[in-house]
Amino acid sequence: MPEQLAIEGGRPVRDRMLPYGRQTIDEADIAAVVKVLRSDWLTTGPQVEAFEQAFARRVGAEHAVAVNSGTAALAAAYHALNLRPDDEVIVPAITFASTANAVIQIGANPVIVDVAPDTLLIDSQSIEARITPRTRAIVAVDYAGQPCDYEDLRVVADRHGLMVVSDACHALGATWRGKSVGCLTPLTVFSFHPVKVITTGEGGMVTTSDSALAERMRAFRNHCITADFRERASRGSWEYTIDELGGNYRLSDMQCALGLSQLGKLDDFVARRRAVAARYDELIADVPGVAPLMVQPEVGHAYHLYVVRLEVERLTADRRAIFAALRAEGVGVNVHYLPVHLHQLYRERYGTKPGDCPDAEAAYERILSLPIFPGMSDADATDTVTALAKVLRRYQR
Ligand SMILES: *Cc1c(COP(=O)(O)O)cnc(C)c1O
Repeated sequence: MPEQLAIEGGRPVRDRMLPYGRQTIDEADIAAVVKVLRSDWLTTGPQVEAFEQAFARRVGAEHAVAVNSGTAALAAAYHALNLRPDDEVIVPAITFASTANAVIQIGANPVIVDVAPDTLLIDSQSIEARITPRTRAIVAVDYAGQPCDYEDLRVVADRHGLMVVSDACHALGATWRGKSVGCLTPLTVFSFHPVKVITTGEGGMVTTSDSALAERMRAFRNHCITADFRERASRGSWEYTIDELGGNYRLSDMQCALGLSQLGKLDDFVARRRAVAARYDELIADVPGVAPLMVQPEVGHAYHLYVVRLEVERLTADRRAIFAALRAEGVGVNVHYLPVHLHQLYRERYGTKPGDCPDAEAAYERILSLPIFPGMSDADATDTVTALAKVLRRYQR
């Protein structure tokens, strides 16, 4: 007789819910923020530059531009490309929707393409099939923290004269062929939301080694004002003009101080994420009906997410039921993500529909993100797999 599930009135594996992700903040982080609060500069001050410079150095890029969210960072990167209203940007179906939404926000059109079924990373054949004379850029999303095959993407991009932007919101600290994510493409985008690899509360960054692109992004975060206030002050002038549409996307000095403090712990955070993932890999190998996504060789994974795929054909319950049963056991599983083209916004605006990206849609029915964050204990990881094994045993065909 299988053990009774919590969802059916049995005893849960955990009494307190294990979240799927959460920040790690220590006393040094707190002190760094408090110090800024006692200083002269709360925004556009020395902490912004200090964070940007340390970040650029860490990922091996010439420039880093701090903005107030990952979504703003995407918009800044797309703005830097000087897109015209009919231009198209290719985006994978499996990503947080803002990868595509930010293309619309800056006035161009996203084109959603399918992903590779084993990794859920953008698929180069699907890209080629959707390139038109209006295509300007490809966005590579390092889903879950696994870098895309940037050699493969460069070949496709070069053949068609396209830019590559990486959405590395999951992948700070990851490497590809020994090189850091952040210097692999002309523009790389990061997020500092609390569940991401490091946090500033809200925040984002774009790295580039092209100073013209960096300048365009610095202008964009400050309303595309043509001269910054220091230049104006040094010229003794109040004058400036606005030639393009930007906004206020600035990251405050309190947030940058927190980011700088967090950046110092990046290696430890990623090492701990990898240790939790290794434990999951080992324990899940013994659980029938479930397998992790494939990790490519030559990749140093950042494990923002640990995603498993359920073999739903071998189960009597669907993913929705498994999800609910695991939550009842006290394990905060999640699903990343509903494929972008299935959101109502895209269906209405672009006429997208089920069937457009079959591999992304098939994956969506099967995936679960297990809890993973640096503050998690080995016992927490064991609880997750105990609950997974208990639930899947109950629903084995
Ligand atoms: C988190 C995330 C974003 C958006 O970042 P925010 O800081 O929440 O605006 C964009 N793309 C991906 C892949 C993300 O995970």
